[in-house]
Amino acid sequence: MSKTLFQKIADSEIPADIVYEDDRALAFRDINPQAPVHILVVPRKPIPRADQIEESDEALIGHLFTVARVVAKQEGLQDYRLVMNNGAGAGQTVFHIHLHMLGGRSMQWPPG
Ligand code: AMP
Repeated sequence: MSKTLFQKIADSEIPADIVYEDDRALAFRDINPQAPVHILVVPRKPIPRADQIEESDEALIGHLFTVARVVAKQEGLQDYRLVMNNGAGAGQTVFHIHLHMLGGRSMQWPPG
């Protein structure tokens, strides 16, 4: 299996502005930010889509939210949006799950 784009970032094969890293996950700035703060929180494990998360991944998925909380504090964000797109029709373009953290501006609902 070839590496996903985000595995290559995690393995330092592609540069990224990494703001957090541990043994299970990393967070880096989105290359095409949609808000003043737009950070992706990514597990090292290359789960392709949210609907392929398994029961054995539950702790890992919880960890992504812990990382998001740590990163939000680092960034000085109190209010922010966390989004995970599932499938191309929902806007997913990189098939390695990631939480988008969007902050630094007011948000509209529903998203487009
Ligand atoms: P999604 O469309 O939900 O799969 O989100 C993928 C995100 O990855 C998009 O917001 C892209 O702008 C972002 N992205 C793509 N390539 C890179 C990269 N090399 N470094 C950082 N972010 C990227």
